Amino acid sequence: GGRRGLTRIAIVGSGPAGFYTAHHLIKQCDDVRVDIFEALPVPFGLIRFGVAPDHPEVKNVINQFTTLALTDRCRFIGNINIGTDININQLRSYYNGVVLAYGAEEDKTMGIKGEDSYGVFSARSFVSWYNGLPGYENLNLNLSSGDTAVIIGQGNVALDIARILLTPLDTLKETDICSHAVDALSFSKIKKVIMVGRRGPLQVAFTIKELREMTKLPQCKTMIKHKDMLPYKDIISELPRPRKRLTELMLKTSSDGRDISNDDNVLELLFCRSPMEIIARNEITKGIKLEINELIEDANGGNTTAVGSGEYETIDCSMVLRSIGYKSRNIDPEIPFDEKLGIINNSKGRVVNNGTTINGLYCSGWVKRGPTGVILTTMNDAFETAGSIIEDNKNGMLPSSNTARDILNDIKGFEPVLFEDWLKIDEEEKRRGELVGKPREKIVSVLEMLQIIKN
Ligand code: FAD
Repeated sequence: GGRRGLTRIAIVGSGPAGFYTAHHLIKQCDDVRVDIFEALPVPFGLIRFGVAPDHPEVKNVINQFTTLALTDRCRFIGNINIGTDININQLRSYYNGVVLAYGAEEDKTMGIKGEDSYGVFSARSFVSWYNGLPGYENLNLNLSSGDTAVIIGQGNVALDIARILLTPLDTLKETDICSHAVDALSFSKIKKVIMVGRRGPLQVAFTIKELREMTKLPQCKTMIKHKDMLPYKDIISELPRPRKRLTELMLKTSSDGRDISNDDNVLELLFCRSPMEIIARNEITKGIKLEINELIEDANGGNTTAVGSGEYETIDCSMVLRSIGYKSRNIDPEIPFDEKLGIINNSKGRVVNNGTTINGLYCSGWVKRGPTGVILTTMNDAFETAGSIIEDNKNGMLPSSNTARDILNDIKGFEPVLFEDWLKIDEEEKRRGELVGKPREKIVSVLEMLQIIKN
């Protein structure tokens, strides 16, 4: 088999998964054209709206994606929501293949009493707030009603949040953090952030780089109890390499806490605790009740589970941030979505419905794999999906599209934002940033973005 002429692929989502899939396809096949659809007027997904503002080097991949989007083989089509504005079957009728790379826009909940009290926020909404995701600029955080925030979770996102809460404002001001966040943080009374993990020091999910950065933060002490680390002292040398170095740093950082003065900001790591209840008065968070866990190793020592001990403790705090994971949603009933795993059913990126592959439908990134892993993990994952598409194309497995028409001529009533439009927004953001000594001042209003394009 095999079709003649161009192979046209649509990608849904312009985060790393979308762009890396496009990159691989275009690099490997001369006859492929890619359109990347994005719900927002601005590209790059969590690189723009997730990655912490004080880690600008992580965002350098944007340069590569920009080069790609400027070639005539790849188009960015923003401000179009797939599932709402155009459904999957409509989209598929214009293309030989569609790749779902729309990430994870919801978050997991703890499912405990009091969780909807004022003062409890998801990591996702907090991060979206300081990074300027449209719709989050007015998030009403209670930064000045107490001095202690508890973060549930011990991953990199939890550490990002802790760092933003504890970094001196003068440092943050020079990043691309939104000015509304700087304004609110200038009234923050939070001095202590407690990061709570269900399991022990060997199961933390952040990396050494992020912890080291925390230990070097000015006017801030990292508090890891020495007695929590002692049981692991003698086995550190046997741990696999990255875990070994991280645990060494945790042991070295650990103390009895006597060096901490009242003037210091503090990040404390608390292990073996599960959230049980938000203690609230008049629906305002006053504290959190935690159950103390015991760690059980399975027979071959591979897996460590936390088991409640029936003993509890309560920590006074005004703010609780749950950082226990993002979650994907189903954007179209036609997509075979595994609600339990929160991913699209797939095999190597080929979407599978009840054991049958849907020809010409693919997925990539967090919506394919689940919401874990860094940009590099997502890149490898995207390359796998692109590989499946290339193979299917060679084998004549891609359906022919119903029309040779350009979808842009057919979508009426919408205002698609193209890459050159985004470049206008980009330029304006950089100009506004320059005025206040930061790399950019993000525009958070979609309406304002659309106005800038028209000017
Ligand atoms: P996303 O980046 O979420 O992209 C999905 C895109 O799809 C979004 O632009 C979204 O707007 C769009 N979309 C959603 N629904 C629709 C729809 N219906 N129609 C059209 N478009 C839609 N990794 C690192 O390597 N370093 C870091 O420092 C780092 N920091 C992180 C910090 C946070 C807070 C988070 C959450 C993640 C971080 N990561 C980091 C991980 C990294 O961001 C992910 O691995 C990666 O972004 C996942 O890529 P993705 O394309 O699958 O999803």
